[in-house]
Formats: sequence, C-alpha cells, structure tokens
Amino acid sequence: MDYNEYIEIVKDYPKEGISFKDITPLMNDGVAYRSAVDEIVAYAKEKEIDIVVGPEARGFIIGCPVSYALGVGFAPVRKEGKLPREVIKVNYGLEYGENVLTIHKDAIKPGQRVLITDDLLATGGTIDATIKLVEELGGVVAGCAFLVELTYLDGKDKLNGYDVLTLMRY
Ligand code: 5GP
Repeated sequence: MDYNEYIEIVKDYPKEGISFKDITPLMNDGVAYRSAVDEIVAYAKEKEIDIVVGPEARGFIIGCPVSYALGVGFAPVRKEGKLPREVIKVNYGLEYGENVLTIHKDAIKPGQRVLITDDLLATGGTIDATIKLVEELGGVVAGCAFLVELTYLDGKDKLNGYDVLTLMRY
C-alpha cells in the first residue's frame, strides 16, 4: 500500500525551518492504519520478538497495536519523571531540542528479543537512545520499525548493524 497520501507535511512546525510530517491522517484511516501495522507485524514475526519497546508518544501508536497482534508485551520509553518506579535513563538530542529518556529497570529481561517502534526516523537520536536503554537492560535489539524515514537527516547511520524497516521515505 502507498501511504504517502496519508502523511500531511506541515511547514514551520514545531518551529521555523522544520517541515513536520504529520502521521495522524494515516491513523485516522482504519484501512491505512491497519495495513501499516500489519506490515510491521509481519516483519516482527520473522524476528521472533519477545517484547515491543516504543518511545513516547508516537512510538506507542505504532508499537501497542503491533504488540497486541503478536501477543507479546509492550514497554514504554518515556521522558524523565513520567514513569513511576525505578528507571534507567539516557540523554539524547532531537531534531529540535534535547531531552532525557527513561525505561523501567525491570521492563526487559536479559536476552529478550526486542522490536523498537516509532513513527519516524529523523536524526536517529531517539532510536539511538532507546537502543542504549534496551541494551543496558540486556535486551537484544532484533529489529527497528518506522512508518517514515527522513533520509536527508542520515538517521540510519546511527543504526549500523541493526535491522531496520521503514514504510515510507522522504
Ligand atoms: P530523531 O530523534 O530521529 O531526530 O527524531 C525522531 C523523533 O522525533 C521521533 O520520536 C518522532 O516522533 C519525532 N519527530 C521528529 N520529526 C518528526 C516529524 O517530522 N514528524 C513526526 N511525526 N515526528 C517527528
């Protein structure tokens, strides 16, 4: 399926000079959303995933239906202060801004095969930080899946040696 018609490009959001790819029209369409999730589920089945991990907030939109379809768990990665129990943390740089990501210390068991999901790969800072969290807990990153890749930001350079699925490229 061609998903491009479901991505709205919003100029100068969230600040001047950024051309934001809005994925909400894709989510709003039941057929397109299900088709995109199904493609990621098919990919994940080949990777024998034990648990899905996604950074807030749009990583949940992709990762939760994938984990439900696979019948495996989902572990949220969140900004500092949002998870209630003991966490490990990592600093990361975004396409716009800086932040800290955290995951519950007991979210992943050593040796578990992990699929990381997010809506979009830009500079790769978020996925890089998420991989660090997963690996610090002893998880094995078996795959990374995105709806959209911004190829001009070279985020894939940060994913050398990891298996990556992207459904759309700009
Ligand atoms: P990165 O860390 O790869 O530079 O940026 C990717 C992260 O920022 C993802 O979590 C993604 O949700 C968000 N992001 C950055 N730019 C965009 C964009 O144009 N559209 C959407 N939907 N998310 C973006």
